[in-house]
Amino acid sequence: MIIDHVRLLAFANRMVAVGGSSPAEAAIVADHLVEANLRGHDSHGVGMLVAYVRDLENGTLKANQTPEIVSDTGTISVWDARAGYGQVIARQAVEWAIESARKHGVAVNGLRNAHHIGRVGAYGEIAARAGMVALHFVNVASGPPPVAPFRGREGRFLTNPVCIAIPGTADNEPILLDFATSRVALGKVRVAHNAGKPMLDGALLDHAGQPTTDPSVMYTEPRGVVLPFGEHKGSGLALVCELLAGAIVGSASVTTATPPERGIINGMLSIVIDPARLSARDSMMSEIDAMIAWVKSAEPADPDLPVLIAGEPERMTRARRIADGIEIDDTTWAQLSAIAERYQIRPEG
Ligand code: NAD
Repeated sequence: MIIDHVRLLAFANRMVAVGGSSPAEAAIVADHLVEANLRGHDSHGVGMLVAYVRDLENGTLKANQTPEIVSDTGTISVWDARAGYGQVIARQAVEWAIESARKHGVAVNGLRNAHHIGRVGAYGEIAARAGMVALHFVNVASGPPPVAPFRGREGRFLTNPVCIAIPGTADNEPILLDFATSRVALGKVRVAHNAGKPMLDGALLDHAGQPTTDPSVMYTEPRGVVLPFGEHKGSGLALVCELLAGAIVGSASVTTATPPERGIINGMLSIVIDPARLSARDSMMSEIDAMIAWVKSAEPADPDLPVLIAGEPERMTRARRIADGIEIDDTTWAQLSAIAERYQIRPEG
């Protein structure tokens, strides 16, 4: 199924709206999901609506939720999203942090108990476009943890993503480093499983601890595990993401979640810095440009695969998918169509 992004956006909007969301909330959530598809992160695209509808129905996702401001010193705030749409409340929290960093130079927000915040890069991008540097550490509390720690063959983490964003310059787009600390985001295993495709080597172990490329090991009992990226380094980053966004922010953690009724809960520690408080803008911008040019000047190991800067692959995919449409795998489309039928939403039009 290949669908034009404008039609997909209209469909996603109608899907969110049937959950009782205000038009503004539905628009933000739908836009976030379709933007994830456009950037090639189908794991965090409209396919997530299947889980969102499930969580709305079981009460672990609350439409039109307002966050509780637990504390706010002006530079440090803690918000509890009370299981509201992460796409809406995480965005508001980051917008707060940008305004606060503009006034004070730096701002820290701890976001507790948001329902799935989606593609973390969306928040880094908002901050970078406002001229800020942003660091986001995220934990996930949702069902049994599928990611093994380094040397383990039992899950102890979820996919705990991290995002670091650096503002762009007149000549370069922002640098947007945004990834799960697992070798692959869990949604990518779901997408491969739905599409009947193998996973890349080195991402999965079966339940006996043997390496495999078969995504079905994550969907049959006893389950396999996803490995952390970068061996002990990714495993360590997964641990600190869990602690920074869980224990330290005071959000639900992998050890306190009561699966599976909890839905998908994210905590996030965001640190937003106004870089103009650290060095002169002109020299900073020219050094960013020089660094990007320097990295990209490296001769590629494979002439068909040029050196890219974080954020660039997503922009390239976005341009391609705007022109050619977004491919949705058959299983995801069937699941979305079944929901659409149940709620009498037209999938297209
Ligand atoms: P990924 O493995 O595709 O890595 C993406 C990052 O690597 C981006 O910064 C990208 O620009 C960069 N990159 C990719 N190829 C590159 C290349 N050739 N050269 C230079 N840089 C390159 O991403 P992922 O780990 O699959 O994560 C996908 C998305 O899932 C992210 O947006 C993440 O925030 C999101 N996520 C969210 C949750 C959640 O609970 N909300 C959990 C896990 C992941």
